[in-house]
Order: sequence, then structure tokens, then C-alpha cells
Amino acid sequence: MFEYAPAPESRAIVDIKPSYGLFINGEFVDGNGTSFKTVNPATEEVLAEVAEASDADVDEAVKAARRAYTRVWSRMSGAERAKYLYRIARIIQERGRELAVLESIDNGKPIKESRDVDVPIVAAHFFYYAGWADKLKYSGYGETPLGVAGQVIPWNFPLLMLAWKIAPALACGNTVVLKPAETTPLTALLFAEICQQADLPPGVVNIVTGAGETGRAIVSHPDVDKVAFTGSTEVGKAIARAVAGSDKKVTLELGGKAANIVFDDAPIDQAVEGIVDGIFFNQGHVCCAGSRLLVQESVADEVLERLKRRMSTLRMGDPLDKNTDVGAINSGEQLMRIRELSEVGDAEGAERWEVACDLPTKGYWFPPTIFTGVSQAHRIAREEIFGPVLSVLTFRTPSEAVEKANNTPFGLSAGVWTDKGSRILSMANRLRAGVVWANTFNKFDPTSPFGGYKESGYGREGGRHGLEAYLKTPSLKGADA
Ligand code: NAP
Ligand code: MG
Repeated sequence: MFEYAPAPESRAIVDIKPSYGLFINGEFVDGNGTSFKTVNPATEEVLAEVAEASDADVDEAVKAARRAYTRVWSRMSGAERAKYLYRIARIIQERGRELAVLESIDNGKPIKESRDVDVPIVAAHFFYYAGWADKLKYSGYGETPLGVAGQVIPWNFPLLMLAWKIAPALACGNTVVLKPAETTPLTALLFAEICQQADLPPGVVNIVTGAGETGRAIVSHPDVDKVAFTGSTEVGKAIARAVAGSDKKVTLELGGKAANIVFDDAPIDQAVEGIVDGIFFNQGHVCCAGSRLLVQESVADEVLERLKRRMSTLRMGDPLDKNTDVGAINSGEQLMRIRELSEVGDAEGAERWEVACDLPTKGYWFPPTIFTGVSQAHRIAREEIFGPVLSVLTFRTPSEAVEKANNTPFGLSAGVWTDKGSRILSMANRLRAGVVWANTFNKFDPTSPFGGYKESGYGREGGRHGLEAYLKTPSLKGADA
């Protein structure tokens, strides 16, 4: 194996303040709640003290969003709103390195991912929805905004999930109150500074930090017209119950347990790259991760051998090092969950294989791992691990592959690896998943809608379809009345 000299990205570009307030009505305010700490999961270093928004703070934020909605944002023409969105997109590009470094420090993801994937897609998302702002009448969903959107996001793609929520909401003329996850608030707070820099009218974007209670206060606030949530299926169900009976519009982007299906005619080396990308990208903290490998029996041994060889070359360690492929697990709590479910895998009789490597002594780390001999009933085949752990199952026929792939309560994504175009089409038609990638995996583009079936949630983000969540769709009958 090669030895690499460390090539860390400098941290000097980011200015992490000792403490942060809430971003309400265009300003940072103290709030009247308590505070919490955010840490660097690769080192356990405390990065900053962050305000925890109370119910009263959330109420202030919703009031600010309502004022901005009625007085300014909903009255502005789409073309004017677009100017702000383009400006935000350009500032994100200009400050891209700063955002990427901060994201890697607060989240633990490798800099090559935050720099080359997260931040460019974030900017692209704002550019894309800026383009829609003055063309809503062609959207097919009307052009009337909903009002105030309450948005709650997870920690795996902090800035990207923020962009997926805020860009379409603003383009459609809504104002927002957004809560980032407790463990990754810093890039959302830097985004708040970007809103100031872009001269976005006060109150159009409000960022309230906190934990689950703050999220609950947002989604249950009576003056919130629209709830957009990305996170676990469990919390998603609780939110669906909380808003039932109200006239809030809801979109839920929840968990997944994607099948990555490799046929015997697939180009094996490319498939191995796709398997690695599918489950080890972002430490496997990916809702659409290809966490169930379904490999055709005749090539299973060969695929596994090449996969293990490839996994042995993955470099784990300092997220800021440009050579790093796999960074830190986002929190001690998440590490515990990954360990627990992996131990269930051992107990259920699956065979564990992990990359032999020295893990740093500080921080939260889990080596890239695969389980073979997994059967469909195993918990590691059914439940989301949300970490760098792959369950391997085999199949003999395409029908068996479809049946096993669909045998899950989730339906977010799937991958198919084969040389035959006709097989790709027939598999895509039969797989119950929102996105099916063929001979690739984890491809994201703002023009393409993303979302789930079944327990993976409802609603779509991205593309023209992503506008529906933020517009009052005219009813077909009464549309022209
Ligand atoms: P989570 O526990 O559901 O948390 C998501 C967000 O909801 C966090 O901001 C959390 O706050 C907040 N929250 C917790 N309890 C709440 C409540 N009762 N009411 C309102 N908000 C509440 O999810 P997670 O474990 O952090 O995130 C990982 C999950 O997200 C995975 O299941 C993954 O598949 C899913 N995900 C889905 C997509 C998609 O597009 N489908 C994309 C990314 C991730 P705190 O965390 O700050 O306490
Ligand atoms: Mg953190």
C-alpha cells in the first residue's frame, strides 16, 4: 500500500466564533433559551456554543417570517426574487472553500466531498430555483405561495439539505424558519451571514438552532403553513401525526435501505466502484445509500474479492486531508447505533469483514465493513444502519433480485449494474424506489426530482416537481373559475 504525506486543507479560512445566537429577522439575537455545544467529530474538540431556541424564540422567528411574507416577499415579482437567489448562489460559489472547510469540521465528512460534491450542488440548487422564480406560471402547480414554511433538516448533508429546502421555498415566494441538526449548525449560521451579505430582506430566512424540541416547536406552530422535514422515519411519523387535522401542507423525506443490484454481465470493476461509492460515500450517512448489495450468485465470489481489495485502499482519517476517502462518524450517539446494529448482525449469524486500519484515538470512527451471509429476515438487511456498513445478499434470477430489492418498508433509491439496456429498463419499472440509478450511483442534479415511496416519505425535492411542495396547486375543476 502507498503511504501518503498528509495534505490538510487549511482551517485558517474559517472564522468560528466562540458563540452563536439565533438568526431572526435578519439579525443574530441571543434568544431566551439555553445553549448547547457543537463539536468536531474527528477530534471531539468543542467548536462553539450555540443558542438553543425555546418555544418563544421559535414564535419570534415565525412572526418575523410572517411579516416578511405579507409585507415584502410575496408582493415582490418573481424576477426580483430571482435576483436575490442568484446573488446567494454566486456568494456560495465565492465562499465555497470556506463553506466546505466549515462543513468538514462540524460534520466530519472528507473535504474532497464537501468541496467537490456538497458545496457545488448547493450553489447549483440556488441557481436552478432562481431560474424558476419568474416562470412559475409554467410550473403546472400554479404560482401562489403557501406562506411561512417550517423546515427541519438532519446532519448528514447540513448545507445541501438546507439548499434543498430554502431554494424552492424562496423561489415560490414563501418565507422560512429552518432548524439545522443539533450536531451540525455551523454552516447554516454561515448561510445566515450570506443572507445578510446578499441583502435579503429581514425575516425571509430565519435560522433557529436547537435539538428535537425546537424542531417540534416549529412543526407544531399554528402560524406555519407548510412543514418540510428530512430525517428519520420515526420522527417523520411523529410529525405526520402532529400536523394531522391541521391545514398544513407537509413533505417528508425519510430513511432508506437501497438495493444495489449487480448482474453477472456487469462491468465488475465499475460496479465495485459504484458499490464503494454507494455505501462508503459520506461514511454511509446517506438516506439513499446502497446499503444492501444484491449480487448475482455466479459472480458473487469475484465481486466480493475485488470489493475487499478496493476497500483496503480506502483512506480513513482527518476529514480536512485531501487524501481522505472516509471521515468521522458524525456523533458519539450515531457511532453507538452503528455498533449496536452491527453486533446484532454478528448475533444473527452474518459474517463481518472490516478494513484493517488504525483508527484515530480521539473522535468517532467506524471502519468500512461488510456483512456476508445475510438473509432477508436479518435486522441488518431491514433496518437503516446509516453508517459505513454493507449487507451482502445474493440472487439467481432478475425476478428474485426484484423481489428481494422490494422486500423492504423503504423505497428511496436503487442501483442496477448490467450491460443490457433492456434489463435496465425492465428493472427500473419493477423496482419500487423513487430513484433508480443504472451503472452509476449517488448522482445528484438540481433538475432531477428526488424522493421516496412507502416509509421513505412523500413529496419530491428538486426539479419542477420540487415546486409543488411550495405552491398552492389550483384544483383542476375550479382552476379557471
Ligand atoms: P432525526 O433524528 O429524525 O432528526 C432530523 C431532524 O429532526 C433534526 O434536526 C432533529 O433535531 C429534528 N427532530 C428530532 N425530533 C424531532 C421532533 N419530535 N419534531 C421535530 N423535529 C425533530 O434524523 P437523524 O437521525 O438526525 O438523520 C438521519 C435520518 O435522515 C436517516 O434516517 C436518513 O435516512 C434521513 N435522511 C433522509 C433524506 C431524504 O431525502 N429522504 C436525506 C437525508 C437524511 P436534532 O437532531 O437536532 O435533535
Ligand atoms: Mg458538529
